[in-house]
Amino acid sequence: MAETQGKVITCKAAVAWGPKEPLVIQEICVDPPQKMEVRVKILYTSICHTDLGAWAGVNEAGRAFPRILGHEAVGVVESVGEGVKDVEEGDYVIPTFNGECGECVVCKTESNLCERYKVDPMKSLMVNDGGTRFSTTTNKDGGSSQSQRIYHFLNTSTFTEYTVLDSACLVKIDPNAPLKQMSLLSCGVSTGVGAAWNSANVKEGTTTAVFGLGAVGLAVAEGARARGASRIIGVDANDSKFEKGKLMGVTDFVNPKDLTKPVHERIRELTGGGVDYSFECTGNVDVLREAFLSTRPGWGSTVLVGIYLTPTTLPLHPMELFDGRKITGSVFGGFKAKSQLPNFAQQCMKGVVKLEPFITNELPFEKINDAFQLLRDGKSLRCVLQISKFLKK
Ligand code: NAD
Ligand code: ZN
Ligand code: ZN
Repeated sequence: MAETQGKVITCKAAVAWGPKEPLVIQEICVDPPQKMEVRVKILYTSICHTDLGAWAGVNEAGRAFPRILGHEAVGVVESVGEGVKDVEEGDYVIPTFNGECGECVVCKTESNLCERYKVDPMKSLMVNDGGTRFSTTTNKDGGSSQSQRIYHFLNTSTFTEYTVLDSACLVKIDPNAPLKQMSLLSCGVSTGVGAAWNSANVKEGTTTAVFGLGAVGLAVAEGARARGASRIIGVDANDSKFEKGKLMGVTDFVNPKDLTKPVHERIRELTGGGVDYSFECTGNVDVLREAFLSTRPGWGSTVLVGIYLTPTTLPLHPMELFDGRKITGSVFGGFKAKSQLPNFAQQCMKGVVKLEPFITNELPFEKINDAFQLLRDGKSLRCVLQISKFLKK
């Protein structure tokens, strides 16, 4: 039994104190897990665009400060709270921002949008008692101050040496899995591959267009490649994404800045009428409209993956749906985290989906602000930060 079990742990975390303020690496206190909660030692974490959105605080979802952001990670269970049966101390786990209780009416269907633990960007407190498990020991300048609570983020909060999660938001993985790469399955790669496999159900020989070639969009391409799509058109305003795209099966590249016509017209020309599937992975409504119009009338299908921080509604006229095109949203690639991710992790380990190309940078935890900057500048897909040293069971 861990000697820390039942005790408050003092450790280091990267705390966001306000919108767009550099994260502060400081000492914090992490309470023991309560009923059906688990305390996890984070080994590696990576950074997703959704962390950037919350950090920038551009909408209500990003107004809870101080907060510990981060939702892509891999860790090891330090201790479990009362009633937790499916993981135990020493298990290797992936946190998931889109949990699965396994018991609610939604969990009993094919949907992955669990009534209790589905993603909720507004949520910043634990379900059990409406409190937090994190608190400060100092103010943001390192000076003494009264202890203050630190808010949680996306059911996970992984930019810390220790975090506490609901057990519904943890997935047990094979201890022999390549841990660094497993961090990618917490969000980016599962979201993208799942959007192609589960939400669109891309078929062999079909054509796809992927808008936004960050890790999420490139994972869509990788998923479409694995399914045998004949053509994968990558659209991005940053030419440097195209080199990487070739590794993930992207066959054609379109940079909107090089065109004098709308992107959808170019894609219709390239495909003789439109693609079978398009994926929006930028979070920009104008891009969503282009993605929608890029599909073939009659059966084209658009999957919305990007997160929209502005309160804008769909950029479509209702009659445009009479062209027979469909549009659907995809959260965590439609994967049910607890019941389906272990199998997906196995498929990745067998090489069905290649994970290595998604890790473009590695930095120590202390350099987390540099990692944020790399993603903001479009210079990284995923930067993995080592938080704690590898522990043997
Ligand atoms: P990223 O920042 O790494 O990639 C975004 C890419 O889009 C970049 O390559 C950028 O150059 C490109 N881009 C931005 N605006 C563009 C425009 N107007 N035209 C063409 N290209 C443009 O981000 P990411 O981590 O890959 O995440 C992508 C999106 O997916 C984000 O909105 C993120 O919040 C969202 N997301 C959704 C889910 C989900 O479950 N639905 C999960 C994870 C991430
Ligand atoms: Zn994410
Ligand atoms: Zn549920």
